[in-house]
Amino acid sequence: ADRTPLSQRSPEELHAFLEEQRAAYAALEGRGLRLDLTRGKPSAEQLDLSERLLSLPDGHLDGRGVDVRNYGGLEGLAELREIFAELLGVEVDQIVAGGNASLAMMHEVLVWHLLHGGVDSPRPWKDEDEVTFVCPVPGYDRHYTMLESYGIRMVTVPMLEDGPDVDAVEEIVRDDPSVKGMWIVPTYANPAGSVVTQEVAARLAAMPTAAPDFRLFWDNAYAIHHLTSEEVKSADIVALSSSAGNPHRPVVFASTSKVTFAGSGVAFLAGSRETVGWYLGHLKFASIGPDKVNHLRHVQFFGSADGVREHMVAHREVLAPKFEAVQEALEAGLGGLGVARWTTPRGGYFVSLDVPDGCAARVVALAKQAGIALTPAGASFPYGEDPRDRNIRLAPSFPVLDEVRTAMAGVATCVALAAAEQLVGDAS
Ligand code: PMP
Repeated sequence: ADRTPLSQRSPEELHAFLEEQRAAYAALEGRGLRLDLTRGKPSAEQLDLSERLLSLPDGHLDGRGVDVRNYGGLEGLAELREIFAELLGVEVDQIVAGGNASLAMMHEVLVWHLLHGGVDSPRPWKDEDEVTFVCPVPGYDRHYTMLESYGIRMVTVPMLEDGPDVDAVEEIVRDDPSVKGMWIVPTYANPAGSVVTQEVAARLAAMPTAAPDFRLFWDNAYAIHHLTSEEVKSADIVALSSSAGNPHRPVVFASTSKVTFAGSGVAFLAGSRETVGWYLGHLKFASIGPDKVNHLRHVQFFGSADGVREHMVAHREVLAPKFEAVQEALEAGLGGLGVARWTTPRGGYFVSLDVPDGCAARVVALAKQAGIALTPAGASFPYGEDPRDRNIRLAPSFPVLDEVRTAMAGVATCVALAAAEQLVGDAS
């Protein structure tokens, strides 16, 4: 196929290209596909890797003799906290193992800041005139909808290769005392795939903030979800913040949702000892203890932090070919045309695709019409509004490999068609 960038083609050539894409799209529609690339869910093949969990735990005592069937142990089972303290790079007394959803822990931390204030808050956030969060974009839609549900203002900053645009962040937090927090997915971000470097993390940890109780909601959902043999290490935000004199700034979240079972894994919260004490101090009014049977099941299943790492290699073997298929299809369909850019993530669950400004919604609509469900355009932005209408989040984990190939070839056709329509429309 001709690889001349579309911007360098004559009007006649563009018309011919548009006709080709229309024909390709008609053929795509004719296939009557029904494929879904919308959400970052583990596939059945991945869930099967943890099937043994269904026959655990073996017995009801943990290594210390705790009867996991009973109430108690609000902070979670010690042996499980040991394993994940090692993986997340914190001390055992700085981590809590909870229920199945880290999102619920994020919600608790947010709401308790609103109602009660944090360890170092002058007053509850609800008593502030306004509460603002910094939101790197593109980012995780549920972070934004959570803030939106409480009327919290969102200010966006671009997500770059090495993390959020930290110059922009520093400026926003320095002067405005309403800026109380920031979302950040530090490792293999959803959807940009970027990894916060130690340097950027150090600046986030140390930057002066007008609010004395500024919080980094450090959502390390993909900390160990490597797609290559290079296992990128997350920046050590707890230690960095502590040595910068801001020990309570980060609250770290993680879970085994994409390690074991998405619906019945274990979620974790970590931070300064005071932060952990603050969290448990509020949690004790809501719970007599977590599901320790599930904790013990996970302890027995993994055995150790190395057991978790080995398990993640098995996930990688399932996932990596799907991510390669995404790259191959985009390159085959769009390479050289100058109409799209996409990420090549080294981990996580997503590929972020940028199409020409004003084309993302059109691409998603074309794909839908052809039976390929994509995440709605704008989903990775606050209020679902991508100001440039150019970003599309691709989630290749759930369909089987062949379906990923078919769906992504179709997506490339939709992008080429939308781009050609726009260029020909602009020219005529
Ligand atoms: N954070 C991010 C960045 C995610 O992508 C996801 C899952 N899609 C979650 C949190 C949800 O985690 P959990 O299942 O632990 O609530």
